[in-house]
Amino acid sequence: MNEPDGLLEKTMNRSDMSDDEDLVFLAEGPAEPESLDTPPASDGWRILIVDDDTDVHTATLFALGKLEMQQRPLEFLHAYSAAEARTILAAESDLAVILLDVVMEREDSGLQLVRHIREELKLSEVRIILRTGQPGYAPEIDAIRDFDINDYKTKSELTRIKLYTAVATAIRSYEQIRAINASRRRLDRIARASTDLMTAHGLENFAYGIINHASAVFDIPNNGLVCIQEHGRDRTGELFVIAASGRYSPAADTALDAGQDARLQRLLLRALKERRNIFDADGVALHLGGNANRNFAAVLDIERPLDEIDRSLMEVFCRNIMVGLDNILLMTRLETFAFYDPLTKLPNRTRLRELVDKALGGQARGDATLALVDIDHFSETNDALGHQFGDLLLLGVAARLKKHLGSQLVVGRVGGDTFGVLGEACLVNPSILLELFSRPFRIDGQEVQLTATAGLLRLDDYEGSGADALKDADIALKRAKLLQRAGHFYFTRNMGVDIRERVRMMHALRTAIDEQEMFVVYQPQIDLATRRAVGAEALLRWKTRDGNFIPPDRFIPIAEFSGLIIKIGERVLREACRELVRLQALGFTDFTMSVNVSQVQFRHPRFLDMLEAVLAETGAPASQIELEITESIAMEDPDVLIDLLRRIKHTGVSIAIDDFGTGFSSLSYLQRLQADRLKIDRLFVTEITSASRGSSIAEMVIQLGRNLGMSVVAEGVEDERQAAILSSLGCPLAQGYLFARPMPFDQLAGWLRDNP
Ligand code: C2E
Ligand code: CA
Ligand code: CA
Repeated sequence: MNEPDGLLEKTMNRSDMSDDEDLVFLAEGPAEPESLDTPPASDGWRILIVDDDTDVHTATLFALGKLEMQQRPLEFLHAYSAAEARTILAAESDLAVILLDVVMEREDSGLQLVRHIREELKLSEVRIILRTGQPGYAPEIDAIRDFDINDYKTKSELTRIKLYTAVATAIRSYEQIRAINASRRRLDRIARASTDLMTAHGLENFAYGIINHASAVFDIPNNGLVCIQEHGRDRTGELFVIAASGRYSPAADTALDAGQDARLQRLLLRALKERRNIFDADGVALHLGGNANRNFAAVLDIERPLDEIDRSLMEVFCRNIMVGLDNILLMTRLETFAFYDPLTKLPNRTRLRELVDKALGGQARGDATLALVDIDHFSETNDALGHQFGDLLLLGVAARLKKHLGSQLVVGRVGGDTFGVLGEACLVNPSILLELFSRPFRIDGQEVQLTATAGLLRLDDYEGSGADALKDADIALKRAKLLQRAGHFYFTRNMGVDIRERVRMMHALRTAIDEQEMFVVYQPQIDLATRRAVGAEALLRWKTRDGNFIPPDRFIPIAEFSGLIIKIGERVLREACRELVRLQALGFTDFTMSVNVSQVQFRHPRFLDMLEAVLAETGAPASQIELEITESIAMEDPDVLIDLLRRIKHTGVSIAIDDFGTGFSSLSYLQRLQADRLKIDRLFVTEITSASRGSSIAEMVIQLGRNLGMSVVAEGVEDERQAAILSSLGCPLAQGYLFARPMPFDQLAGWLRDNP
């Protein structure tokens, strides 16, 4: 009768692995996490004795009652029938061991109870020791295994020592199972915390997210603090608290010095200096990474001893956070670049356009006005006195506008020497604006007298978008400049010469489509490492009957505005698909074709049907077609878009985000879009050789692409230096005049043959 030992081993191994129910439970688990550890309701190991013989209860108590295991006493619960045991089990949760009689009300009461415990209550951790009076009632081996029964003993065989050994083994096994399960759940939570943190907007929210998740994952009190240490122009290594909760909350948004809290200071500095997690009698400090000049660390209150596993899990947690933090930092910097003018730090054109859009949508629209204020003769001054002086001048103007208007109005820089002012009509008024230029500016020790011209646009009954408003204000500004310097003009509808031209072009476009004045050209995309063409972008051309080319930047907006783009876009796609098939026939089999898709096309309810129909009709392989969408589409109505993209990707077609970096979607959104590729806008490619900035937007986009597992193409590469820099930054693909200009299909096939 020594086999129980063998069985014990078997069952233990099994219980180590078989926790499928647990995982299911986790996936559907409540958002508010229940505790992962053994925070015992009482200090003792809880043991339930189930036996219809009261003597057995007494004997067990007598045998085990006074004993301790790992400094914890044993605590007993008693049930005198299987039914009573069920009642107790329904209410109790943290039982370590059940000593269970096999035969009670019925011959199989004990086994039925085991089934109930394992299958219905899904208690997989509690250890069960079966006891029976008669050896004949031994359960089948199968039952022992299937129900994860730890031990099986006849009562006569259970001497005090043997009972003690059996219970001790069961408790040890219970403890191990709990620990393994807790670790597994923690890992799962860490994974979920990382995904969740990706959705945080901005650094501050991210930092608070870290504290909240750490406290949930590790079952520790929500007392934590995250700080940033920056080395650079403004900051000199001081610790600045960006998030603090619980008892640390008073420290939020302050600089942390040793006088304030020497312990915190010491812990954080150590973590930052040694770039590792510190587990100390003093407390726990986590190093969360960062980059060369900004680093992050957190202090957490942990009121229980951390074992080896806890520490490893914390390391895993930190490594996950680091990746997320890296992405958030990149995104925040990209946003700053995208929305703020680096010289004056004022909102730039993109940001102002957004704010005008907002104003047009909001209630304040009633009396809002947009003004563009342009410095007269700036370019002459700039040329005569040099760029540096010009920059100082701009800074002077920016400072004055900000000082006098900034508290009530939006002040931005929309272009070279043009500032934008947005707000209530009574304040955005030409006399107030131009009056600001009546006093001279002190620039570089000199007094400079400037004048300015303003173009204004009332938003109250304005019908266009923010972008239109900026254009129309610009028309008013040009008019004002033309007629009288140092003056102003309000935009009026009849000023919209533009509008008439738009109408004329719309008519011309309609005939152009029918008369086949439009055709598609292809610009190769190159693998920077091998210099081989991997694909091409299809670009539309319009050559009028009199032989003039009208650039797509001019006619596409009108095609969109008039809805003609639906028809045009479908033609481009069909044409591109056909040519792709022809290329395949010519032996260029792994070649990708990229096609631009405008917002208007995308929003069309039959877009997906159209796409599928064209694919079917041309026989083009979906996996080699890529649709380029602009970031501005990507920002509209997220859920609808995400769903549409998912369905598009289902056809096998991939998605690239065009002109990436010029508008802004959030990081989590970018991830949800599941785009395959980012296209770095030409603007940022041009910028990389100017080397005035520490790190370029292009570099950040490349890094972001790598972090998110997306491919990256740089657009508008015009010279070898740009190609070399991009290559060294790890950019895989490029497109631009350096390699090839857009060309008609016949030429493309030849070009591909000549440039293998
Ligand atoms: P895009 O999608 O950003 O296209 C890239 C533009 O950069 C193209 O201008 C291309 O000719 C130009 N380009 C390529 N390499 C270089 C270079 O090295 N240097 C310079 N300076 N430019 C380079 P393109 O063909 O004039 O197209 C302008 C825009 O018109 C496109 O910008 C795209 O937004 C739109 N577009 C063109 N074709 C279509 C189309 O079929 N459908 C839609 N919806 N939009 C289109
Ligand atoms: Ca494009
Ligand atoms: Ca582009």
